[in-house]
Amino acid sequence: MTFAGSGDAFGSGGRFQACIHLRGPDGAAPVLLDCGATSLTALRRCGLDPGEVAGVFVSHLHADHFAGIPFLILNAQFARRAGPLTVIGPRGTGARLAELMEGMFPGSASASRRFAVEVTELRPGETFAAAGVAATAFAADHPSGADSQALALRLTLGGAVIGYTGDTAWTDALRGVAAGADLLIAEAYYRSKKIPYHLRHDDLVEHRGELASRRIVLTHMSDDVLDHLDEVGFETARDGLVLRV
Ligand SMILES: [Zn+2]
Ligand SMILES: [Zn+2]
Repeated sequence: MTFAGSGDAFGSGGRFQACIHLRGPDGAAPVLLDCGATSLTALRRCGLDPGEVAGVFVSHLHADHFAGIPFLILNAQFARRAGPLTVIGPRGTGARLAELMEGMFPGSASASRRFAVEVTELRPGETFAAAGVAATAFAADHPSGADSQALALRLTLGGAVIGYTGDTAWTDALRGVAAGADLLIAEAYYRSKKIPYHLRHDDLVEHRGELASRRIVLTHMSDDVLDHLDEVGFETARDGLVLRV
């Protein structure tokens, strides 16, 4: 897996927005875990081809987590892609993606393409498999529109289990996201300051005993954390970080 983007919404630390590129061991096409607005640049910076991506798993419908998808679709259109692109996200993903595309590139939502964009919407508790990856959804505590429910995700690919908090305040659902996982990717937006609907480094320290994953890597950090990485008691992501799980 490659952290193409490990940043927050505002470019803290010069980092790209959330975009984690996952490639299974069997040569299957890769998938993305979140696709923030900056993701095509982030992928290319890492030498990764956006046109290869078979599926995108979306935690929630904020621009720093899903606004790269219109670029992904249009890039594929101009690259004459033939195979389908699967988008798996929370309730409301299909309608919000169409609105986003129309706002960014008028006419693009209804343009005819050689490939299908197949959207599947998950509710907490549901599991769906696509592009060789099974995803189970958990309820996150992070408002992203009345038509939607932000998710934490637990992905299984190639025998590895990867948990991802997305953006969320601490919720006991995160125990299930982490339980027995090979890796938990957790947001750590601030160190101690209470920011509504986000995880802090302090929350992860407090609940560390409840997060039974083999490994924890922090992402989505603001300057408040990035300026004090020496005080952080966990592994931290950076753009371009490659991990083998
Ligand atoms: Zn968010
Ligand atoms: Zn975010």
